[in-house]
Amino acid sequence: MDQLESLFQPTQVSNREETRIAYSRDASRIQGECRAVVWPETVTDIVRLAQWAAETGVDLVPRGAGTGLCGGSTPQNSVVVDSARLRHIDVLNLQLKHVVVEAGVPLDQLNLNLRSSGLFLPVIPGSHRSATIGGMIATNAAGLHAVRYGRMSDWVEEVVVVDGKGEIQRLSVGDRNAFAGREGITGMIVQATLRLTEIPKSRSLTLFSFEHLADMLEQVKQLKTNSALSALEYLNPHAAGLVGWTARHCVLAEYYSGEGEIRDPAEMVNLWGARESLSARLTQAGFPISEDPQFPPEALEDNLDWLMVQNIPVFGHLGVGILHPRFLREDARIAELYYRVSASGGQISGEHGMGLKKRHWASEALKAEVLALKRQFDPQHIFNRGKLC
Ligand SMILES: Cc1cc2nc3c(=O)[nH]c(=O)nc-3n(C[C@H](O)[C@H](O)[C@H](O)COP(=O)(O)OP(=O)(O)OC[C@H]3O[C@@H](n4cnc5c(N)ncnc54)[C@H](O)[C@@H]3O)c2cc1C
Repeated sequence: MDQLESLFQPTQVSNREETRIAYSRDASRIQGECRAVVWPETVTDIVRLAQWAAETGVDLVPRGAGTGLCGGSTPQNSVVVDSARLRHIDVLNLQLKHVVVEAGVPLDQLNLNLRSSGLFLPVIPGSHRSATIGGMIATNAAGLHAVRYGRMSDWVEEVVVVDGKGEIQRLSVGDRNAFAGREGITGMIVQATLRLTEIPKSRSLTLFSFEHLADMLEQVKQLKTNSALSALEYLNPHAAGLVGWTARHCVLAEYYSGEGEIRDPAEMVNLWGARESLSARLTQAGFPISEDPQFPPEALEDNLDWLMVQNIPVFGHLGVGILHPRFLREDARIAELYYRVSASGGQISGEHGMGLKKRHWASEALKAEVLALKRQFDPQHIFNRGKLC
């Protein structure tokens, strides 16, 4: 610790007990152990830290806002590297619709800063108020508008990463496999060049509700052919009841046009507010464990039906097949869910990542990819040791 302190200003390092406790877990609530926290302010700080870690063998855990739901930024006797002081929004190229931004910038802050330019970054996870650009790239976040805008990797042009050898790497679109969705195992993302798009001129919503799953899925098929569609969020009857909506299969469809039934801005804010309050409400209702399977369209009906029969509340980004069933703590049905996802050809993690929580479910192909990346970028396993698989 003395050695670590000597590398930085006193305000940039802490091993105080209250700090270590605060950083010992992320939003997954998986408990870890934090040795110390470092707040780098420059890329050189991170290079120095990575070199120190390579010499001492200490594990470094990059952390954004800690909103991750699978223990990705949970330390395991590690030093946590918090990106909170990497908050510059540097260059906006209006013609190219590009912005250069540091990893610790929260998404909402970026979009607020961009508002006068008429542009925005349209990947919006439910945690948009605090999730950082670095965390979103590392998890390849999707979210509320994935049906229209895809996921984070679709919007990254270039990243600057400090790898496990302490070297600064400038990685572009062609290398996205090395950083997007890699959960910080190849190094710490310091800065990113992101593509932007125009803020839509008009928005409207329709809240559909259905008695039968099959009818709902038929309507979803139709809605997905509409080029103005910008979000397609599902709440099963259990979840809909919790936010005061009719306890049926509900679908909130957003359009970048005036064709939705609800056009009043205050009403739209209320509906989105209800949808976004769901995660906290479900935790209060005793369902704190959030999963994020992604099912192919043909497997949705059978699996949504199974979740209903099990009395499991579900919401999610139905337009891209990502669901968020919510479970009780230590619920044995989570393993059953994973088997069902695998059997259907889906993904165990549609957007949250594998972290510590799902690493034992990693496929052989993922393990091989991770090992190859580690050999290239982090041969001494300095960054996020034991995560992802
Ligand atoms: C209420 C709620 C709603 C959510 N909704 C969504 C959603 O709709 N879609 C979605 O995709 N996710 C969602 N999430 C999950 C989470 O918010 C996202 O995974 C988000 O991208 C994490 O960002 P973060 O800054 O909090 O990262 P953290 O949680 O701090 O870290 C996540 C992972 O990224 C790594 N990491 C963080 N910063 C860096 C960096 N600079 N360089 C390298 N690696 C780094 C960490 O080591 C960790 O493995 C939600 C979470 C909550 C609590």
